[in-house]
Amino acid sequence: MGKLTNFKRSLWVFHASGGSCNACDIEIVAVLTPRYDAERFGIKLVGSPRHADVLLVTGAIPRDFADKLRRIYEQMPDPKAVVVIGNCGTTGGVFYDSYNIAGPIDEVIPVDVYVPGCPPRPEAIIDGIVKAWLKIEKLEKELEGKKE
Ligand code: SF4
Repeated sequence: MGKLTNFKRSLWVFHASGGSCNACDIEIVAVLTPRYDAERFGIKLVGSPRHADVLLVTGAIPRDFADKLRRIYEQMPDPKAVVVIGNCGTTGGVFYDSYNIAGPIDEVIPVDVYVPGCPPRPEAIIDGIVKAWLKIEKLEKELEGKKE
């Protein structure tokens, strides 16, 4: 894995849950609460996608949530990255091929990082967020290059 070079600012994360059983979501909470305490690295949960750099998505995405997820993604400013947490969002998981599922998530919005598991461990989620951070740094450099 590459190294974070800029580390100029915090990474703000928005969490969207689309049909998850809640276990993946609980592991995300574990990442943010005192045992793993990702906030000490500047990884902070925010209440609006308009403020977010990274979108964490859980669940297989029911059809009635697909448009809402697209709208959440579109509201995020560039550069941005999407991290799928869990097997449901990665492949459909136990809901694979269900009549009422629009997912997996990459059928609905572009995905940058997959964190498989049912649910994945907090360490794996932190690893996924760091990969997204690297991608955002790369995109930022490309955007800066275009400005010059
Ligand atoms: S991947 Fe497993 S833990 Fe996560 S939402 Fe699906 S069933 Fe629940």
